[in-house]
Amino acid sequence: MYKSCNIIMNSLLRRAASIRTPLVNVDRRLSYVDRVRYLQKLKEEDTICLSQVPGGKFLVYSRSKPLIRVDKANTDNALVWLSYEDLIQYHSEVLNSIVLLDVAEDGTPRYSVQVGALATEVQEKMEYSTNASFTDLRAALFMVNWKEAHVLSRANCVLMWNKNHAFCGKCGSPTQRNAAGYSRKCRSCGMTHYPSSSPVGIVLVTDPEEENIILVRQPRHPPGMYSCIAGFSDVGESLEETVHREVAEEVGVEVSSVKYVASQHWPFPGSLMVGCYALAEKQELSIDPHELQDAHWFSRDEITAAIERIQTNPLLRLRGNPSGELFIPPPGAIAYHLIAHWIKRTPVHEIYQHIY
Ligand SMILES: [Zn+2]
Repeated sequence: MYKSCNIIMNSLLRRAASIRTPLVNVDRRLSYVDRVRYLQKLKEEDTICLSQVPGGKFLVYSRSKPLIRVDKANTDNALVWLSYEDLIQYHSEVLNSIVLLDVAEDGTPRYSVQVGALATEVQEKMEYSTNASFTDLRAALFMVNWKEAHVLSRANCVLMWNKNHAFCGKCGSPTQRNAAGYSRKCRSCGMTHYPSSSPVGIVLVTDPEEENIILVRQPRHPPGMYSCIAGFSDVGESLEETVHREVAEEVGVEVSSVKYVASQHWPFPGSLMVGCYALAEKQELSIDPHELQDAHWFSRDEITAAIERIQTNPLLRLRGNPSGELFIPPPGAIAYHLIAHWIKRTPVHEIYQHIY
């Protein structure tokens, strides 16, 4: 079945390549509206999507590790985009392993590709020729900028979604992906499946004077790290209800005045992190030992020092702080921005533009 799919897809590509006519003028920058409409067309129309593959750029994953160019100073890390010609030198099964990601400002469609396990010499050749390395996804998310982290997250989620949804959730029959990898149709019952995200409420709880905040520590956190309270939204729950419930469950406190701040997609496991502020009376915390290792109210002075530590050394997030001194998640995490903008007293409605 898989082989016949390849034959069909390769035939489509040959046909599409022969009629290839760029939909966009690559000599100019496209407006945002032009790009999103073009992206929508690529997602929905297989022949057009396939016709653009040879002119596309490709973000490569091998064994779920993206190819990242790492700057020695750790200040200019970047995703690596291969041309189609470069990609097929290493990986011939392109069509069944790519997913559409976005459209660059010059109109170039960008895709991600999972190349599977490469032979060591092939991997080394690819890394050498691109001056980059296949990097653990969790580390890579903290090494690149905010927008590129979202591209990494989207790529990983759509690639994994296709891998895990080869069969229909309704009737169990095989599903067939579309060219962009953004839908899968069941051959038996006709149901079409789409990738989705799971909403998570992540909240910075302050006292009414906004001089102290609650941060919590989960057992999986590296030594010294505390972060905001977070949890998945239950079915039938609003985000506000999620925030109220999670704070009550984890630290035994009731909150009021929940305000939305900004959101972030996170690929573990396909979460939409919805960042909020909420108020609570400063009071003794009652910690749920099944969820948390520790939780505290922290003052502005303590948090200012914690921000300084993670800004000076972002790798604390991966390695932990052996001294046990407090630090918070790095700028690649929505929690950092909730905390850092509370310190700066940034008006809530202005935080979004600082992040994006
Ligand atoms: Zn079905």
